[in-house]
Amino acid sequence: MSELPLPPATRALGASGIEVSPIAWGMWRLTEDGRTAADAAKLVHAALDAGITFLDTADIYGFDGSGGFGDAEVLLGEVLAAEPALRGRMVLATKGGILPPLPYDQSADYLRKAIDDSLRRLQVDSVDLWQIHRPDILAHPQETARVLDDAVASGKVRALGVSNFTQGQTAALNHFLGTKLVTTQPEISPLRIDCFENGELDQAMMLGLTPLAWSPLGGGRLAAPETVRDIAVASALDAVANAQGISRTVAAYSWLMAHPAGIIPIIGSQNAERIAEGAEALKVRWTRTEWYAVLVAARGVPLP
Ligand code: NAP
Repeated sequence: MSELPLPPATRALGASGIEVSPIAWGMWRLTEDGRTAADAAKLVHAALDAGITFLDTADIYGFDGSGGFGDAEVLLGEVLAAEPALRGRMVLATKGGILPPLPYDQSADYLRKAIDDSLRRLQVDSVDLWQIHRPDILAHPQETARVLDDAVASGKVRALGVSNFTQGQTAALNHFLGTKLVTTQPEISPLRIDCFENGELDQAMMLGLTPLAWSPLGGGRLAAPETVRDIAVASALDAVANAQGISRTVAAYSWLMAHPAGIIPIIGSQNAERIAEGAEALKVRWTRTEWYAVLVAARGVPLP
């Protein structure tokens, strides 16, 4: 039974020279449950102490449909202001380009302002990775590229990425950029397998983009599967989890990490123990047979 390689101790973000942990922690849900800056600081420490140094947020995290835009960045900013040394221990990623009540905005003026506003809320001089959260169909990629190149040239942003872009949108923006994209962030999980076969990950490998997987547990559905398909995927993961003495969650992260594109799962938990547990995924090894068994369960039909 041929074994797939273990993930490396660190992964590079494209050709940027930025090295990150092969698993990340995300702060989409950080402002839930009335978390204070002290609560947020405990979670940041839990991630960093477990070796999870790549942290992902966005300007829209905290928005609840009527208010809260920027709140997750503000909370992390308070953590960083109280303990400035933390900034040097993390690779900090954020995103912008979704502007309620409008769907998306990547006009030059808006993007410039969005980047400045994120830095102000985070109380930092620069972010390591700035990502366009969702594509604005009304923005010309040449105009978007000019603003992003300026943000890199000014030192506000070290590297650039996209999220939820089609392959054509990624290629078009990359074509016009002087500083090429280094990441793409689609939804990928054992329950969301489109990009394994639709060319997205192949494009990422071709362009040298590091894929970041959002909702790696299907937004938590893998922890409590309900449908026939979700239960089948969970039990394929459980077979490996039970054999290796790890949780199904860790098996799910490591399943993504075993893909040759070098997928970095973004842990969504806001529970310190569960965040730290995610680092166990670095030690899990998959055979091809086990890996494909999860894929086949997710497809619901055998491979041809
Ligand atoms: P997820 O890992 O798929 O789901 C996390 C949810 O599952 C949390 O509510 C967590 O609750 C719950 N959960 C239940 N049992 C768990 C267990 N045993 N271990 C871990 N979690 C468990 O991820 P997600 O939160 O949906 O997304 C992760 C990150 O992806 C976000 O923080 C964000 O950075 C990014 N994201 C990006 C986009 C985009 O458009 N680019 C969209 C969505 C998310 P507890 O907190 O109680 O553990």
